[in-house]
Amino acid sequence: METKIYTCPICGKEHEELNAYAQCILACEAKRKKEEAELKKAQLELEQAMRKKSLDEAGEHYRKLLTEYIKDYGTYEVKRTAEEIPVAFGKLFDFFNW
Ligand SMILES: [Zn+2]
Repeated sequence: METKIYTCPICGKEHEELNAYAQCILACEAKRKKEEAELKKAQLELEQAMRKKSLDEAGEHYRKLLTEYIKDYGTYEVKRTAEEIPVAFGKLFDFFNW
């Protein structure tokens, strides 16, 4: 009787036992999902780091403009009421120690 060979579609490993073949597929699928999740996490972290860099650069640019403005005109006044400034901006202002 000819031995049937089962080839795992994910890793390509060949199995003579159907059970071992099934176990291989399950293990390979679990590994693939784990790698996929790790890749997605790494991509999200990269995106967050890039957006933070953009914010930091914008903050630097803002500080530079503000410093030049104050140097030329002596003061820079803004209306700051809770209604006018969104919460997110409030945090940005805190960042600049206003
Ligand atoms: Zn496999």
